[in-house]
Amino acid sequence: MFDSDAVISQQGPEQKLESIDRVLEAHPSLMDAYQKIEPMILSLFGAERMSIFQRRRQHQDLVARFKTGKETREINVQISPQSIAGYVALSQLPLIISDPYNAQELQDIHPRLRFADKFDKTSSFRTNNILCLPILNAGVMMGVLQIINKQSGSFTDTDLDIAKKLTAILGQKFRYELGGTSQPFDYLVHKGRVKEKQLKELTDSSSDTRQLIQRLISELRIPEKEIGNALSVHYQVPFVNYDPDKYHLYRSDSKLNLSYLKRNFVAVIADVKENPIVLMAEPNNAALLMEIESAMGIDSYDIFVGLPNQILQYLGEGSGGGAPGEMDEILDEIGTSSEESEESVDDLSDDAPAVVRLVSRILHDAKRLNASDIHIDPEKNGPTRVRMRVDGVCRDMNQVPASHHSAVIARIKIMSNLNIAEKRVPQDGKLAFKMGGQLVEVRVATIPTVGGEGVVMRILASGGALPIDKLNMAPGNRTRLEEMIKKPHGILLVVGPTGSGKTTTLHAVLGYLNTPDKKIWTAEDPVEITQAGLQQVQVSPKIGFTFANALRAFLRADPDIILIGEMRDKETAHAGIEASLTGHLVLSTLHTNSAPETITRLLDLGLDPVNFSDACVGILAQRLIRTLCPNCKEKYTATEADMGFIHRQYGEEHLGELNIQEPLQLYRPKGCEECGETGYKGRTGVHELLGMTPELRGLVYKEASVSEMKAQAMKDGMRTLTQDGIYKVIKGDTDIAQVQIISGTS
Ligand SMILES: [Zn+2]
Repeated sequence: MFDSDAVISQQGPEQKLESIDRVLEAHPSLMDAYQKIEPMILSLFGAERMSIFQRRRQHQDLVARFKTGKETREINVQISPQSIAGYVALSQLPLIISDPYNAQELQDIHPRLRFADKFDKTSSFRTNNILCLPILNAGVMMGVLQIINKQSGSFTDTDLDIAKKLTAILGQKFRYELGGTSQPFDYLVHKGRVKEKQLKELTDSSSDTRQLIQRLISELRIPEKEIGNALSVHYQVPFVNYDPDKYHLYRSDSKLNLSYLKRNFVAVIADVKENPIVLMAEPNNAALLMEIESAMGIDSYDIFVGLPNQILQYLGEGSGGGAPGEMDEILDEIGTSSEESEESVDDLSDDAPAVVRLVSRILHDAKRLNASDIHIDPEKNGPTRVRMRVDGVCRDMNQVPASHHSAVIARIKIMSNLNIAEKRVPQDGKLAFKMGGQLVEVRVATIPTVGGEGVVMRILASGGALPIDKLNMAPGNRTRLEEMIKKPHGILLVVGPTGSGKTTTLHAVLGYLNTPDKKIWTAEDPVEITQAGLQQVQVSPKIGFTFANALRAFLRADPDIILIGEMRDKETAHAGIEASLTGHLVLSTLHTNSAPETITRLLDLGLDPVNFSDACVGILAQRLIRTLCPNCKEKYTATEADMGFIHRQYGEEHLGELNIQEPLQLYRPKGCEECGETGYKGRTGVHELLGMTPELRGLVYKEASVSEMKAQAMKDGMRTLTQDGIYKVIKGDTDIAQVQIISGTS
C-alpha cells in the first residue's frame, strides 16, 4: 500500500510524513524499512538522493548504510568539520548548501569545512545542492539526515521545516533502536537503583548536575561507575572514570585556559598512544565542543562522558572550582609578561591563559552590571578601550595594553566561531558562556577600523518575560491596551527605534495572553526572552528562513496568536495583515518614530488602507528613558522653566487631567554609591498608544495626513510620548532632562 509512487506523489507533506512514520513503526529497524522509506523521502523533497547517517554507539563517527541489491554497503564519516555530515553532527545545526563545489560558501560556514567529492568522482553523479540536518532526540545527537539534489531549484526553508519534522520522527526511531534514555539518569531508574519520584525530587532540589551527582553518590550510595554508565547510555558515548594510570592530560591543549575548562567541566585527555579524547560532563553541548574543537585544531578525537568532579581531577584539582581571577590581577599579569611586539602575539600564544581569562572576566562583568553591549575599541596610538553600555549609556570600564589587542580579538573570534585570519571585512557571530549556571548568549560583530579590528558584543537578555504590570504604563494606557489584546483577531504593532524595549513589551503582552487554551507561535531574531507555553522560532535570513516564511509556516500550524519579530518589508507586513484578517491576533514591531507615522509608513509600503485599518487594533510607540536613582533622588520645587515646559508640552487642553498641585514638587538626580554617582538607575518605558476607532479608520481610508490622524487619535484618548514622559516626571520616576531627550527639545 505504500509502494505505489502514484499514491505517494498525490499526498501533501504532512500525509507523507505520517506514512513514513507508519512504515518505520511497522519495521523493527531503520534498515528493514529503508527501501520503503527512501522513495517516500525523495518524493517528499523532490530530490535525487539521500543518506541517513546513524551515530555509532560509543564511537565518534557516523555510519550510513545502503542496500544495493542484497549487499549492504557502509559509509563512515568522522564527527568533525571536515565533511558536511560530520560538521552538522558536531554543530548540531542544520545546513542548506546551494553549491558544495563553492569552497567559499563552505569556508563561510567553517574554515575547515570540506565537501567529500569521492562519490561524485567515482560515478557519473554530480552533487548540486544539499540539505543536511542533525537527527536529535531528547537533546542528544543520534545521526544526520542528508538530502541531495532538489530537482527544481534549491532547497527552501519550507523543505527545512519538513525535514525538521522528519528528523524528529527518525530521532525517536534511533533512540528506540539504541535503547537510549530521555533523561541523563533514567537508566538508574530502569536498573532499580532509584525510584522515579525520588530522582525527580533530587533533580528538582539540586542546583545543578554536579550537585545532583554528588547527592546520588552520598545520599543514595550509588557507585560512580553506575552513574557513569547511565550517562553513557543517555549520551551514547563511552564513560571514563578517573584513571590517571590510563589517561593523562593531552599536552597540546595549551591554548585552552584551565579555569575555562574547569568552569565548563571539560578536559582534553589522551591514552597511552596519545589519541586525544575530549572528556565532557555534558557531551551534547555542541557549542562547547565546537569551541574546544576550534581551539585545538585537531582533526580526530573521541568524545567521552565523565563525572564533573572526576573531570576536575584530570585538570589537577581535588574538588571545588577555581574562581576566575580579578580583572586587575589579570591585567597585572599581562602587563608584566609582555615585551613582545604586536606581531608576535598575533594569535593566541604563551599569554593565552591570561587573555582567555581577561575575555571571560569582561563577559562576566558585563553580565553582572546588566550591560547591554560591550565595545572593544582599538586606538591608533594607545591602549585598547573596553566600554560597556549600562542603562543605555556607554561607560569606560578598563584598558587593555595595545600589545594584547590582537590576542583579545582572536580569543573572542574563536569563541564566536569566526575566521581569525580574516581581519579586513566585518564578521558576525554568536558566543555563549555560563554564569551562575545560566547560559548567557552574546551576539558578536567585528569591524575593521584604521586603528585595528574592533568588536562590539550585544548581550542578549535571558530569562523570562516581564509581567505586564511592570511595564509602568499610565492607567489609561494600561486599560486601553488590555482591551486591544483581548480581541480574538487583529494586529497590534509596537514601534520605536532599536533598543526602545519593543521585545520586552511584546513578551509582557504574550505573558498576559499565555494561557493553555491558546496556541502561540513566535518568530524572532534573535530569541532573547523565552516563555514556557510559547512555541518560539529563531528565524535565520542567512539560510533563507525569513519572518515571512515563518509566518506562512505558522498559518499551517493552527495558531491563535502569532508574534512576528519585525515587519522588515512589504511581504512580511502584507502577510501579517492577511493573517490578522483571517482570525488570528498578530503582534509585531516596526522601526517608526510615532504611532500615527506608522500608519503612513505602512500605506507607503503599498498596504491596502481598508485592509490595514480593518486589521489594526492599535499601535504602541515607545521609548526607554533613564529613571532617577531611588536611593538619592532629591525633592525640589518646580522652577518657572519646568512649569513652562510642562504647560507647553502637555498642552493646556489636557493639563487638567494631571491634577497638578501648586507649588509642584519634582525630583532631580544627585548621585550616590549605588548609582555610580550618576543619579540615575535603571530605565522605564514611555508610551504613546493609538487605538483604531471608527473616526480614525475613516481618515485612514482617505489616506489623510499624519497631523490629521494624530489630532483624531488624541481626541480618542492617545497621549504622546512627551506627555507620557511628563506624567512620569510628576510621578517622580524621572526628571525633565530625560523627557527633553525624547521630545527633541533639549
Ligand atoms: Zn544614587
